[in-house]
Amino acid sequence: MRDRVTIEGVDVSPDHFIGGRRVASAETFETRCPFDWDRKLADVSRGDAATAALAVEAATAAFPGWAATGAAERGAVLHRLADLIEANIARLAIIECMDMAMLHESLRLRVIARGALNFRNYADIAAGYTERTWSSRGTANRVIRMPAGPAVIITPWNAPFMLSTWKCAPALAAGNTVILKPAEWSPLSASLLADLIEQAGFPPGVFNIVQGFGRDLGMALVSDPRVKRISFTGSVPTARVIGKAAAENIVPFTAELGGKSPLLVFADADIDAAAKKAAGQYDDSGQVCMAGTRIIVEDSVREPFLEKFNAYADAHVMGDSRDPATTMSALIHPDHAARVLGFIDRARAAGDTIARGGYAAGGNFIAPTLIVPRSNASEVVQNEVFGPVLTFQTFAGEEEGIALANSTAYGLSGIIYTGNAVRAERIGRAVRGGTVWVNTFLVRDLTAPFGGIGISGIGREGGDYALDFHSDLKTLQILEGSVG
Ligand code: NAD
Repeated sequence: MRDRVTIEGVDVSPDHFIGGRRVASAETFETRCPFDWDRKLADVSRGDAATAALAVEAATAAFPGWAATGAAERGAVLHRLADLIEANIARLAIIECMDMAMLHESLRLRVIARGALNFRNYADIAAGYTERTWSSRGTANRVIRMPAGPAVIITPWNAPFMLSTWKCAPALAAGNTVILKPAEWSPLSASLLADLIEQAGFPPGVFNIVQGFGRDLGMALVSDPRVKRISFTGSVPTARVIGKAAAENIVPFTAELGGKSPLLVFADADIDAAAKKAAGQYDDSGQVCMAGTRIIVEDSVREPFLEKFNAYADAHVMGDSRDPATTMSALIHPDHAARVLGFIDRARAAGDTIARGGYAAGGNFIAPTLIVPRSNASEVVQNEVFGPVLTFQTFAGEEEGIALANSTAYGLSGIIYTGNAVRAERIGRAVRGGTVWVNTFLVRDLTAPFGGIGISGIGREGGDYALDFHSDLKTLQILEGSVG
């Protein structure tokens, strides 16, 4: 076991959490602070195939006991974990802030609490599940949800705490054991979560957390035939690789992937609200899968929209994520910043117009950038950038607006601004996306389905959808009148 490291007064273990105890690897990897890149936060245990095997073994051994525990009893443990998360909001918020550069205020006030809510929500939905029963063709039919087995959960580096809790909660509530592998660029909040898992009273091996890279540790986890569910959030190229491993073992696999979502503004909308929300797409430096990165505005309101948009974009303050005055922090890693700048450079070279920003702003910071593409086929319109880079296009008439909105291979979400109820319904149905918001953004009901269309993903998370995914569904049919 390695010594715990202290970051901003919070001590974190750099090790894995397997079978209810800390396990160290001989090799380590560094994690650094995105907004102060010279600052190393920790040398974290770097898992490999042997670590994966150990974790799957622990999860496999713990599965029968956890699966046999009733949903209400499992729910009680999940509620205890939620209590502990709420009691540790300050510690989790500062660690996530330092490791991923999400804004401290938003973590402290909202995001970490949502992690607790994820566990409460699934504890309650699973405990309240009633088996569907009906009579047909002379038989009594019943749908039974059976826990499936060890589940591997693989998460990306953005919003790591929120996403990890969102994905692990349904697996655990359904009676599966879990091996969580957070991303290598922001592993620390998961390590802090492991302390809370231990305190919450999960039986050893039910909830395991391993740290390391995708190509060795991740690959070994998703390829292990003892794993019965794979739940992945991340990029399209990685989903293709993991999907092949899942296919090899015939294991159900969900993929929550990238987006290139439209933010469609009609002339009848509240233009100020729309412009404010559009400039809000720079929040978290645009490292948000659901972000409405393609701003598509009706011709007739182009000028008033841009005037307001620019005013809101100008008001963004780049800086230290701990500072409440900061509204936009650094990108996660220099490699990612270089990738984002590559999109901007290629757009410029290809003849797209850089209407604002378009430059590195020191360290891992990139100025909020707006690009007017020369055509809808521009790379920056068609591909996810995952940085503070928005495109601006205009349309004349609903048909063209919808055509532009639906013109990429992605379909994660959509944002529409209109003041007309009939149009809200019509365009809301027409825009391709797993979630479409009208006159708002990011508001979620945790029981609603969440997922992508097209290359934005496979499967749905949220409410019963995730519980079904994490279960083997059985139809039990008993001949009526045949049993006393
Ligand atoms: P990524 O695909 O590079 O990595 C995601 C995770 O997969 C990491 O933990 C990584 O270590 C692991 N991984 C990589 N190769 C693997 C392999 N061969 N086997 C097993 N695991 C492997 O993605 P990223 O750069 O960390 O995240 C950003 C992407 O995630 C963006 O595309 C973003 O849109 C997407 N995202 C989607 C959602 C959603 O809900 N749809 C939410 C957040 C982020």
